[in-house]
Amino acid sequence: MLDIQKIRTDFPILSQKVNGKPLVYFDNGATSQKPQIVLDAITKYYSEINANIHRGVHTLSQLATDAYEESRKKIQTHINAKFSHEVLFTSGTTHGINLVTNGFGSILKPGDEVLVSALEHHSNIVPWQMLCEKTGATLKVIPMDENGELIMLEYDKLLSEKTKIVTVNHISNALGTINPIEYMTEKAHEVGAAILIDGAQATPHLKPDVQELDCDFYVFSGHKICGPTGTGILYGKEEWLNKLPPYQGGGEMIKEVTFEKTTYADLPHKFEAGTPNIAGGIVLGVAIDYLNKIGFENIQQQEKELLEYGTKRLLEIDGLKIYGTSKEKTSVISFNIDGIHPYDIGTIIDKQGIAVRTGHHCAQPIMNFFGIPGTIRASFSFYNTKEEIDLMIEAVKKAQRMLS
Ligand code: PMP
Repeated sequence: MLDIQKIRTDFPILSQKVNGKPLVYFDNGATSQKPQIVLDAITKYYSEINANIHRGVHTLSQLATDAYEESRKKIQTHINAKFSHEVLFTSGTTHGINLVTNGFGSILKPGDEVLVSALEHHSNIVPWQMLCEKTGATLKVIPMDENGELIMLEYDKLLSEKTKIVTVNHISNALGTINPIEYMTEKAHEVGAAILIDGAQATPHLKPDVQELDCDFYVFSGHKICGPTGTGILYGKEEWLNKLPPYQGGGEMIKEVTFEKTTYADLPHKFEAGTPNIAGGIVLGVAIDYLNKIGFENIQQQEKELLEYGTKRLLEIDGLKIYGTSKEKTSVISFNIDGIHPYDIGTIIDKQGIAVRTGHHCAQPIMNFFGIPGTIRASFSFYNTKEEIDLMIEAVKKAQRMLS
């Protein structure tokens, strides 16, 4: 059992008051809070070893380079990638997806098909649309049902030898559904298609094993796993990363440059042009260490209890409907109350110190499916408590009374 009160002291922001009330932070799906050890590591980097990496022979440059590359190895171990050069530092999930879609620009041809799921965040829809517009490939959508689950029978039917890549999130940010990515990967590979998994919402809750999953690409953001903003990882299988052209040109990503021709650096540098977020990359490793120390089994246990308790308590409220009712779901509850706009509830409960997300959660197609403008989303992390859920319930009931 985790000592949640002790864990909470690791996060200075959690003891803050917001609008005169103790902060109840239930917007973890948007970004997680940061433990002191992560904050300290940022200061330590800038006050002790700040230098540009992979460039100088001087001591600080070596120290910074070593710390950055050690962090890459740490992340390789965390996701069980075969090689550390399959682990690319990015600025986040969005960057990782765009890197892949840019690469597929030189692979796809008119008539090829890209399968995207109906449960995606805009950042896993729009880059693929742009890619299809550019290449003449066709975007097809794997539909979902009322529970917020992807319909595997329809997925099976959509797959064909025309399918070149499938893209799906591991866990939906809007509904919390955990998608059957093992099955989807196997099926994609049966028709010779690649698969990209958007792990932005999964990595806060679980440790992905990319070799076991056998996925071709796996992307996630550092800021959702207790790391700094502007950090992220794109895992790609070596064979794919070798096949894809570079995303950006510049320093660091070259072997030799002449005005006639440039040759590119080996992986991972081929995809890491320019000075990266060095501090961020190093500190992401610190954040991952922190989570592993707490232990993902413990994290899941705590979040499961919060999900069950939160669901039960919310359903006590008259006229409340939860969207996303899959049995396979993580600690995200998306809901609405009859006749009340989600923004109104969000605004009122903010005055009580309760931070939730309201709106379409960058997943407008999901909102369109349900015929709603948006939802209120409470997303719990391991550092949240049942007492905080009680505070949210009271605040929501009060808002309901005021708005009815
Ligand atoms: N995919 C999913 C499922 C997400 O939840 C998010 C962030 N809300 C993203 C992609 C985009 O992540 P980022 O903004 O960190 O690039």
